Amino acid sequence: MSTRKRLMIPGPIECEANVLAAMGEPVPGHTAPGFIASFGQCLKMMKQVWQCPSGQPFIIAGSGTLAMEMAAANLTEEGDHALVLSTGYFGERYARILERHGAKVTLLEAKTGHAITARQVEEALSTKKYKLMSFTHVDTSTAVKMDAQSIGELCNKHGVMTILDGVCSVAGENIRQEEWGIDVVLTASQKAIGVPPGLALMVVSDKAIQAWKERKTLVRNYYADWTNWLPIMEAYETGKPAYFGTPATNLVKALEKGLENIINEGLEARFDRHNRLGKAFRTAMSLLGLDMIPASEEVSANTLSAPILPETISLPDFMQAMGSAKVAIAGGLLPEIKTRYFRVGHMGSADKEDLRLCVEGIAFALNECGMNANGEKAWRTAIAE
Ligand code: PMP
Repeated sequence: MSTRKRLMIPGPIECEANVLAAMGEPVPGHTAPGFIASFGQCLKMMKQVWQCPSGQPFIIAGSGTLAMEMAAANLTEEGDHALVLSTGYFGERYARILERHGAKVTLLEAKTGHAITARQVEEALSTKKYKLMSFTHVDTSTAVKMDAQSIGELCNKHGVMTILDGVCSVAGENIRQEEWGIDVVLTASQKAIGVPPGLALMVVSDKAIQAWKERKTLVRNYYADWTNWLPIMEAYETGKPAYFGTPATNLVKALEKGLENIINEGLEARFDRHNRLGKAFRTAMSLLGLDMIPASEEVSANTLSAPILPETISLPDFMQAMGSAKVAIAGGLLPEIKTRYFRVGHMGSADKEDLRLCVEGIAFALNECGMNANGEKAWRTAIAE
């Protein structure tokens, strides 16, 4: 019997067989014609998946934090004012990154489980002039989702550049980057894109590229500087090789398959599937008697969930009992409350069967900890709704 557990932590996630097969191909050289074609295709497909036909895509070896730092390093100069909207751990991280690059940061923090409303953003932007604003679309520590459309539109109204940290949302939650006027939408390969960890990905608006071109000072991170990378992306997109730093060639081949899978499913169908599965999972948790960290359905992400354990159950006991279930999930992340909740990823190619196993595993673990939960019934009811 297989002892393999389904990976249902909120990233990295399980990958489709064609993605893994591409990872396992003989290592392509970065100037091989087949690789050049794949790189070019990835750049073109990113514009489609990001819904930003006139944006500039970047594919760089590194994790999501590099994508965050790259946007910050290129768009910030000493003394610039930046507003950071925070709904958890990763908002806080963005504040630290922007400060490192010389920004004067105002941090607007939501109460745990709540989003920052358009009204609060409007108020903050009307009180002070900011050069840029960052926000976490879905914060992976709280499973809280922000209203990206309203925020993007408000930033445009106030002439502020916007960075959307979409590490836990791109390709799982709808983002119409161009239509909503968001300047940078960034992510990493290992979440809803469905590729192993190792690629920092972003699409940048023409307005942000212009702002970067008008900088008066050097970008303070050599590796992240768009001066080094923009010519590389432009070359590969037009079918020519170029070198600044060695691309992660197998990962780029895998990304090509991951993006093809997304486009073949269709963006609307994919967002709809995430929406249905996310809702069903939350309903199942509620039927098992668990509350969630997000305060309402409106602010609940569809890519992951963060259920709260009953006070009578300790997280280590619960996680130990989960050890014999067929799925791997994650503990809490937000330092103040990390032992009070757990997190389940249901993004990328996660399907009903994955979620059924997961709900049943959770019910089993709750019962081991003294509750009386019926996982099979909870899932059957939740998915029928
Ligand atoms: N932002 C968000 C919303 C994330 O979920 C993560 C990773 N969990 C990051 C940024 C950082 O990405 P990475 O771990 O790939 O550096």
